[in-house]
Amino acid sequence: MKINSCPNCGSEKFVKSGIIKDRQRYKCKACNYFFSVNKIGKSIDQYYVNKALQLYLEGLSYREIERILGISHVSILNWVKKYNIKRPYNPDYHPTYKILNAVELSHYFQDTDNLSGAGVVVTELGDKFMLIKWERFRN
Ligand SMILES: [Zn+2]
Repeated sequence: MKINSCPNCGSEKFVKSGIIKDRQRYKCKACNYFFSVNKIGKSIDQYYVNKALQLYLEGLSYREIERILGISHVSILNWVKKYNIKRPYNPDYHPTYKILNAVELSHYFQDTDNLSGAGVVVTELGDKFMLIKWERFRN
């Protein structure tokens, strides 16, 4: 699997940072997270398959999912085909999303303005959480 972005924060600014156990290691310049090809490869592959398909069903585009998960949109496209995932086409609204840590998430839910008129889905994403918000009556 080709690396497009940091699996922790999605930044595309990462640099090579040594070889660990015969694998190229990278360091993200945005969040200082270390990762290797293997780390976002086989071992947690299935985790990302589920996440990617979940996001796809929530209405996000391949490019958006690529940006969030750091997985090539081609891989996501292949998974959608492989698992025969279909979603209804809905031109009227599109979800927005935020990546929050646990503290930010609790603050978000304390503000009722954030919740009224919208549905929210929260899903784990690495050590953070992704919040997908559906605004039902968007103008
Ligand atoms: Zn990062």
